[in-house]
Amino acid sequence: MKQIIREIIKCCLVVIIGGLSLHISPSYAFAKTPEVSAIRIGHSNSKTRFVLDIDQNIKFNIFTLANPNRIVIDISEVEWKRNFGGAKGKGYIDRYRYGLFKPGTSRIVLDVKNPVVVHKAFVIKPKRNKPYRFVIDLKKVSKKVFANRVKKPVPRSAKRKVAVKPQQDLRSLRKKKLIVLDPGHGGHDPGNLGGKGYRGFPEKTVVLSAALTIKKELEKTGRYKVIMTRSRDVFLKLRNRSRIAHNMQADLFISIHADSIKNPKVRGATVYTLSEKASDREAAAMAARENKSDIIAGMDLEEEIDIVQLILITLVKRETMNLSSSFANELIPQLGKAVLLRTRPHRTAGLIVLKGLDVPSVLVELGYLTNSKDAKLLMQKETQQKIGKSIVRAADNFFNKTYVAN
Ligand SMILES: [Zn+2]
Repeated sequence: MKQIIREIIKCCLVVIIGGLSLHISPSYAFAKTPEVSAIRIGHSNSKTRFVLDIDQNIKFNIFTLANPNRIVIDISEVEWKRNFGGAKGKGYIDRYRYGLFKPGTSRIVLDVKNPVVVHKAFVIKPKRNKPYRFVIDLKKVSKKVFANRVKKPVPRSAKRKVAVKPQQDLRSLRKKKLIVLDPGHGGHDPGNLGGKGYRGFPEKTVVLSAALTIKKELEKTGRYKVIMTRSRDVFLKLRNRSRIAHNMQADLFISIHADSIKNPKVRGATVYTLSEKASDREAAAMAARENKSDIIAGMDLEEEIDIVQLILITLVKRETMNLSSSFANELIPQLGKAVLLRTRPHRTAGLIVLKGLDVPSVLVELGYLTNSKDAKLLMQKETQQKIGKSIVRAADNFFNKTYVAN
């Protein structure tokens, strides 16, 4: 049902935007993935032009979202020849981000400073040494016109509710404990970018690299099976991350992140567990940053909250929250042997990725990308292995002491 409504909305958008050549078809295949060799932005005659240089023709679908105002461009899956860093805009574009949204579809999000509409969007065929160019022209409009273009939310009645149906007990059938590792962000959501002038890796890359090493350390013991929510640079909705752990009836869910803060001197790891109220102002700000992932992606956050609230009223919550805290208590002293810890390393916040989850779960901020030392250490294999070993010891203690399956 929801799918049908989404399709109807998409069709309406085509009608609304009219005149533009829009195609909605993520499911077709090229022999070779198209490659983007350059991104250019120009502004003149009260028009902002966004251009991709590309070696093949691509299909595209564009829509507009508000709060914050942005233009979302879905295109055929492409390779990005290099990291077109900076991501700072020009003209009406404040910033932009891009990456793999899902297999078959790459997404570019333009955060715009003014209410704008896509005046024209087209592909220019290659000419005289110049490759294909995908061009989007933005023009400023009144707030009213902008509001009319904004993608309408999915009607409430069509929203999917979580089916709380009894499942077969997968836990008792397993010989090994199942841990779901969740490297945060990915695709067009880079996560934290580090401080001013920082030229290191974005959070999405640091945490994927760390998680892959942690997985190896856990599986090496023979006691754990690890499932990754993502093992490449792809975007994943927050709800789908925890859903993997729920559906697999995992024994533990660990979301892996790296933080940022204004003061570049601040270093150290923090372990977060879920609570309705943040433990402090910093934790609340951090949760706001992490929860933004789906907004960046152009998701319907309302829907997210609906499901969150639905599950929060269940009685499973208290027990899961207690177990999550027990794991955090095991993890912190072990993690402290691998990396520096922040003062008060156990904090709590309303993190969407942990909400609605009936599996003991924590979110670990491994350190601060805004601190050059932390940023450097976290990409080093040796540090990642130490972190992995600390998680092994914590999981061993947790399952031995507090957690009895069935
Ligand atoms: Zn993060």
